[in-house]
Amino acid sequence: MFMRVDKLQAELPPPKRQDPNAAAALQELLGGKYGEMSTLGNYMFQSFNFKSKSKLRPFYGLVASITAEELGHVELVSNGVAMLNNGPDKGADGADGGDISKTPFEAMKDIRSFASFASAGGGALPVNSNSMSWNVDMVTTTGNVVFDLLHNFHLECGARLHKLRVYETLSDPTGREVCGYLLVRGSVHAHSYALALKNLTGVEIEKMLPTPNIPLGNIPECQKYLQEGSHRRLYTWSPNDYAEIGGIWGQGEQALPGDPPGELEVVKGMPDGGKIHQLEGIPSAFSPDYAPEEMFEIATKLTKAMG
Ligand code: MN
Ligand code: MN
Repeated sequence: MFMRVDKLQAELPPPKRQDPNAAAALQELLGGKYGEMSTLGNYMFQSFNFKSKSKLRPFYGLVASITAEELGHVELVSNGVAMLNNGPDKGADGADGGDISKTPFEAMKDIRSFASFASAGGGALPVNSNSMSWNVDMVTTTGNVVFDLLHNFHLECGARLHKLRVYETLSDPTGREVCGYLLVRGSVHAHSYALALKNLTGVEIEKMLPTPNIPLGNIPECQKYLQEGSHRRLYTWSPNDYAEIGGIWGQGEQALPGDPPGELEVVKGMPDGGKIHQLEGIPSAFSPDYAPEEMFEIATKLTKAMG
């Protein structure tokens, strides 16, 4: 089962300006080959399909618990995309006045992903940076544990490559923060799959890290996550389950050379996280609908009724 918490895994700064092309670039981290839809889809179905779960508990638990984190990454990137499409946080709804006779979306004809406005009202979609659909061919679940873990190691290194390149593309603080956080977490996941493979095969595959060979210390947006020790932490994402992943992520294993030193640790539960930004309605897109005041009033009454 999954439990949902109404927060993001990291606190995102508001965008400096509306930038739908930056949002399109960030879509690569959502629906690209190595995007969050791919890591989620791989680990989710591998964990569902895992054979001999009780006999292979730490390895099953690793794939199962990271699945929950990846679902939160999908949520984080989606929020970043919507924020860049929306622009700086504003207080009131209805800033554009809803006058559709004045071609309020005229600027959108020149952006890369018009579908994000035409179909999704400025929201995120499971597509890559060129609006090509993410699809099930991105999912590998062979039933062979070593092969699946090796695939996951490759996937996390690929995701890191994506994130670096998208980071190098974006100047806005929102998109850069998404990349900075995910680069740290991707490094943890690549490291954890490497240690799982070392336990099973004896091959010290973690010596290949970091791949690509750019230390997190060179990226300003990674610094606060390194200082708080995020690069040494795996979360269970569960109140009671999956603690046995400490057999892989722990046992005296240390942070990667080049990152702040320290022992790897499993943390029960999840990180504190950050707020979900309130994106205002767009009357000209009829979102949440044209003239939403009555809907807000109904929702307020229902909320109050629940005390
Ligand atoms: Mn991820
Ligand atoms: Mn990951």
